[in-house]
Amino acid sequence: MTAEILPCPDLTIIGGGLAGVEAAWQAARLRVPVRLYEMKPGKFSPAHRSPLLGELVCSNSLRSADVESAVGLLKEEMRRLDSLVMRAAEATRVPAGKALAVDREAFAAYLTRALEAETLVAIIREEVTALDPECLTVVAAGPLVSDPLARALAALTGQEQLHFYDALAPIVTADSLDMSKIFRASRWGAGEDYLNCPMTEEEYAAFYQALMTAEQVPLRDFEEPRYFEGCLPIEVMAARGYLTLVYGPMKPVGLVDPRTGRQPFAVVQLRPENREGTLYNLVGFQTKLTYRAQERVFRLIPGLEHAEFVRLGAIHRNTFLRSPGLLSEYLNFFRFPRLFLAGQLTGVEGYVESAAMGLLAGLNAARLARGLPLVTPPRVTALGALISHITNTASRDFQPMNVNFGLFPPLPGRVPKRERGRAYAARALAALERWRQEVSVSSTQR
Ligand SMILES: Cc1cc2nc3c(=O)[nH]c(=O)nc-3n(C[C@H](O)[C@H](O)[C@H](O)COP(=O)(O)OP(=O)(O)OC[C@H]3O[C@@H](n4cnc5c(N)ncnc54)[C@H](O)[C@@H]3O)c2cc1C
Repeated sequence: MTAEILPCPDLTIIGGGLAGVEAAWQAARLRVPVRLYEMKPGKFSPAHRSPLLGELVCSNSLRSADVESAVGLLKEEMRRLDSLVMRAAEATRVPAGKALAVDREAFAAYLTRALEAETLVAIIREEVTALDPECLTVVAAGPLVSDPLARALAALTGQEQLHFYDALAPIVTADSLDMSKIFRASRWGAGEDYLNCPMTEEEYAAFYQALMTAEQVPLRDFEEPRYFEGCLPIEVMAARGYLTLVYGPMKPVGLVDPRTGRQPFAVVQLRPENREGTLYNLVGFQTKLTYRAQERVFRLIPGLEHAEFVRLGAIHRNTFLRSPGLLSEYLNFFRFPRLFLAGQLTGVEGYVESAAMGLLAGLNAARLARGLPLVTPPRVTALGALISHITNTASRDFQPMNVNFGLFPPLPGRVPKRERGRAYAARALAALERWRQEVSVSSTQR
């Protein structure tokens, strides 16, 4: 069933992914009624499987929990702005060393329940196929936005949408692993959250050879592969050089095999997928090998000889708009001030970044509905740095970006490298607090 949005309701949000749920939550906090359209379960993108809102389509990690890292800081800022996604993540956390990883089912169920319980949010399970820029709308349909809506967006913006590709990592069951070959440890003795499959140099050489000659899913004629550097398929990384994986996802540093007392030549790390520890994903093993090739090659990994794969890797489209020149710092279109963009479509990359852009778009769309001035966080915050990236980067250089300290204004004076994270975080959180006071002062004028 499809829907054209007429007449204009108070606020329409298209897409119930990470950005859409966060946007709806923020709007409801400002007492603005929301119609949240989600096309699942009637229609699924190639990567979505669950009927729940806020589905994580690949890794179950929201990356570093350390507030002195850029993504940890972004999460802390979101917490301070009452992020629903952060509440869900804390409530459904699974052990993952210094990372914030979640039980993906519990996480999505938490988000779905929270919005179902919110009386101001009506969840409508229909695909939206057209846009009326006069209606107050947040488009949060994600990197796998359905084709009719992608066409409607392209027609409105007058720019061709851009494509590139991401790949999913495989997941195995814990009880199919040979634990006599695997050891538990987090890097540098920081706990025991990961399962580590150690490889000797000979084992690595055989694995590398098999990987390099394995069959890949062919791209269709029009599909030019343009991968995001942070999520490269394992075989694309391997093709860069014999040792690239040993310095990348298979790096052994900080890991000692208790059976030999030595650091292995290479290590494949497995991270828990759920709280029960019954499922593990192969960290960094996103791939576009054929299913048959994946089972053959990944079973060469010590401990995975008889692994049961509950999900194999895959390749998918990723769509985003060239936001600089199109979007304002409030995440609405210059040409269509009542139309907002959120999530990965804005040209940020990552779960947390997508949710963060949902938070700001939802906040501003709701403020517009209430007749309040629109707001944007200070540039020295992680939120502000991301906004600056998607609105200020020279358009021809624009590429999706994870949050990182390179996007922040430089720190004043010379700060030793090891103290920079703390300095960025202290400056950002102080600025956010000041800004938050201003925002909540005006937002209480209901
Ligand atoms: C295959 C893949 C793997 C990824 N892996 C990772 C990862 O491991 N880690 C990471 O940090 N980031 C990853 N990303 C990037 C990004 O963080 C996620 O895609 C993230 O889910 C984006 O959030 P979003 O809210 O923008 O979109 P989504 O979470 O995809 O939500 C969009 C929602 O809109 C719905 N929708 C689409 N079109 C319509 C329509 N016309 N009408 C109604 N509803 C519609 C969809 O069903 C979906 O529920 C990955 C992206 C892809 C494509």
